Amino acid sequence: MSGVAALLAELDGIAVETDRALVRQKSRDFFWYSPVLKRQLNAVAGEAVVMPKTEAEVARVLAAAFRHRVPVTPRGAGTGNYGQAMPIRGGIVLDLSALDRILWAKPGVVRTEAGAKLIDIDAHTRAAVGGELRFHPSTRRTATIGGFIAGGSSGIGSCTWGILREPGNILGLRLLTMEETPRVIELRGPDIQKANHAYGTNGVITEVEMPLAPAWEWIDLVAAFPTLMDAARFGDAFTRQDGIPKKLVSIIAAGVPQAHFKALDGKIPEGRAVALLMVAEPFLEHALPFITAHGGELVHREPTEAAEVPLYEHSWNHTTLQVLKTDKTVTYLQTLFPPPQHLAKVAEMEARFGDEVPMHLEFVKFGGKVTCFGLQLVRFTTEERLAEIIAIHEQAGCPIFNPHAYTLEEGGMKKVDHVQLAFKREADPLGLLNPGKMLAWENPDWRPTQSVHLYETA
Ligand SMILES: Cc1cc2nc3c(=O)[nH]c(=O)nc-3n(C[C@H](O)[C@H](O)[C@H](O)COP(=O)(O)OP(=O)(O)OC[C@H]3O[C@@H](n4cnc5c(N)ncnc54)[C@H](O)[C@@H]3O)c2cc1C
Repeated sequence: MSGVAALLAELDGIAVETDRALVRQKSRDFFWYSPVLKRQLNAVAGEAVVMPKTEAEVARVLAAAFRHRVPVTPRGAGTGNYGQAMPIRGGIVLDLSALDRILWAKPGVVRTEAGAKLIDIDAHTRAAVGGELRFHPSTRRTATIGGFIAGGSSGIGSCTWGILREPGNILGLRLLTMEETPRVIELRGPDIQKANHAYGTNGVITEVEMPLAPAWEWIDLVAAFPTLMDAARFGDAFTRQDGIPKKLVSIIAAGVPQAHFKALDGKIPEGRAVALLMVAEPFLEHALPFITAHGGELVHREPTEAAEVPLYEHSWNHTTLQVLKTDKTVTYLQTLFPPPQHLAKVAEMEARFGDEVPMHLEFVKFGGKVTCFGLQLVRFTTEERLAEIIAIHEQAGCPIFNPHAYTLEEGGMKKVDHVQLAFKREADPLGLLNPGKMLAWENPDWRPTQSVHLYETA
């Protein structure tokens, strides 16, 4: 009997899926945004999906997987973009979406199970304590809070609150270890970084505790600008207006919204770059003149909650999705334009690549400073050209968080995270959690030079 069969035989009472087509479906995320990952991961599939409903059931699954030496890949809603929740070494997919209870909320703080959807958490906290999550991915309607913490980084609200990695943006994580007798560990304060953005390689998160921000009535605004850099300078200036509560400052090059944002059809004049904004209703009297004073023309205004397609589903990686709906030849980058030279670097890259890399910026607070991330589109030709575009950005001092790589190191900081590696040795001594995603597990001396091989065609 295989390890997986022996494992499943011990899971009486816990929901399991072994239908090949359904298992394959739950073994995939949005990796196909990347032509590189599509080539590398398209055949990936687990051997079964296990769907516990309680922490006790998760512990039973992990204990049995340890006994039978079966790899376990945690999954929230499977909306990650870099194959994070894909079981590249086989074994089982552990679907945690049924752990979706909201445990309690008080002014400024909420505690939920890891499988709770972000939109459900906001609906609950808005009603219960007049608060909402500080920021969320644009996949707010589908993604889970556990998946955001383990695999995401920033989103709608980061223009005010920064990114998940910054102190105070996560208050607590409760997780289970992968051992004979799984232990419960509560991470708080700086210890949270042991498992934050670790792709579930060193613990299965069962509960999270998150800070809340005031729940304003948000208004979606779209402003058109003569040029990309006019819009970018406006975005930078507007993000610095701490007196105006805002949740979104996205800047997108001309041509993209006109051709691909169906919900805004006919509203955006040809040849204009745009700013997508979410502003708190009571502050519109300040925001609207600020737009005009920076050469912007308001072309759309609607309460976020009333929108059929909220504006934020045109921002962050939904911008790429909106384009992919009608143009399958594009892919994207994830770029940091480091402050304080960020605007000059944006102008340099825009001049260098033009329409081969249409500009898309998300203004954020990063280490307390205002800057912008790029989620630029790329008109994809070859993997070699994509590698070249990435290398040119890196050489120009614009680090790329490579979305065409499925490992923590190559997709992230391009270095070993020794804190997360040490925690994995403690919490997953056999390396059964999401194997193949932490290069340092197999090679603690890993160095970035080794990432070149990613682009060698098969
Ligand atoms: C259109 C689109 C837009 C997006 N926009 C954003 C954005 O604005 N910001 C952003 O950061 N991301 C964005 N993403 C990526 C992704 O949607 C988010 O990161 C999302 O929060 C992931 O949640 P999920 O529940 O789908 O996680 P999954 O994809 O299921 O998992 C993500 C990672 O977390 C691990 N994991 C999941 N649950 C647990 C758990 N309980 N314990 C331990 N590990 C776990 C998985 O193993 C995997 O490594 C976007 C993706 C798409 C397709």
